[in-house]
Parts: sequence; structure tokens; C-alpha cells
Amino acid sequence: MISARQALERLREGNRRFVSDVRSRDTLVSQARRNELAAGQEPFAIILGCSDSRVPAEIVFDQGLGDLFVIRVAGNIVASSQVGSVEFAAARFGTRLVVVLGHSQCGAVLATLEELRQATETQSRHLRSIVDRIRPSVESLLATELRHHPDALVRQAVRANIRASANHLRHGSEVLEQLIQSNGLLVVGAEYSLETGLVDFFDVPA
Ligand SMILES: [Zn+2]
Repeated sequence: MISARQALERLREGNRRFVSDVRSRDTLVSQARRNELAAGQEPFAIILGCSDSRVPAEIVFDQGLGDLFVIRVAGNIVASSQVGSVEFAAARFGTRLVVVLGHSQCGAVLATLEELRQATETQSRHLRSIVDRIRPSVESLLATELRHHPDALVRQAVRANIRASANHLRHGSEVLEQLIQSNGLLVVGAEYSLETGLVDFFDVPA
């Protein structure tokens, strides 16, 4: 298995190809590659991303079958089943890089900000469970001057939510903590820009 830093470089290169409208031939699906993978997988990165239709991890990183272990949920939140999925992949396949991939104008973050401004009773408890995960990281921003600057507020809220999810994975699981300490597991936070297609890895531990 390649190291976390090598995996990160591979994702950066793939994203550069995506942004410049160039595609790697390796990402084309072939019968041969399918057959090869039927025997087993060795994904080089785990991505916890948002369900937004505009941010499919394999496409924005220009990767192919078997390359990425992807978990997608609205607002890239971390609840037990997300932690479990990351633990499973990291322990089973030896994957060393975990990326929390949020994006600009995230609908789940916008919905949380709306809810904080004006609480509604109509929201289903399932939807509320997502908003409640995002709420703590954006609530404090509303207490600052940012509340007068809607665009900046949304930008900061998206990043705060990504950081919170990354920190939850870093500190909310004994299995992952162990792998971070002894196996070179790295959890990073990144934001995809809907406008430019660029992924900014803004939260990478030294
Ligand atoms: Zn989103």
C-alpha cells in the first residue's frame, strides 16, 4: 500500500487532470480491470464526501475502478456508520489516507444556517439528524461579525463543518487513533469548488 503522502499526491494530480479536462487512460473501465478486481481490492484512499450530484469523488479526482473507497452522505457528516466504514476500509485494506471532501455552497450547510436563523417544526427527524451534526460547528460563526456577511459566512461554515468531520474521525475512534499513531494513517480535510473544479486540501496535519 502506498503512503498517505503519496496517495495525497495522486489525488492532487488526478484533480489537476480533471480541472484541465484531461482524463487518464487508466480510469477507463475495462473487462480486464474488472476481472482483476473481482479477486480483491486495494483502494489507495478513503473519501468521505457529500452526496451532492456535482461532487462524485471518482470523477473530480480522475480515478478508476478499485482506486477509491467512497462514503457519501449529505453534508459529509460523521455518525457511527461513517466511522465504522472508515475503520473497516483502513483496517481491512491498509489504506492510509482518509479525505473528508466538502464543497462550496453545500446544501446541507445552507439548510443548517437557515434552521439556526429560523427554526422550523416541519423538518423530518431524519433530516434533523443531519442538521444537528452540522449545527455545532457553524453555530459559533453566527455569533461573530460574519453574520452580516452571508457569502463569507457560508464559506467559513463549509470549512468549519469539514474540519469538524475530520477531527471527529481523528479523535472519535480508538481503531483510527491507533492506526494514526502506528500505521501512518492520515486524515485530511478538503474543499471542492463547484465554480473552478479545484480541490483545496486546506486541513492537512503536518
Ligand atoms: Zn453538500
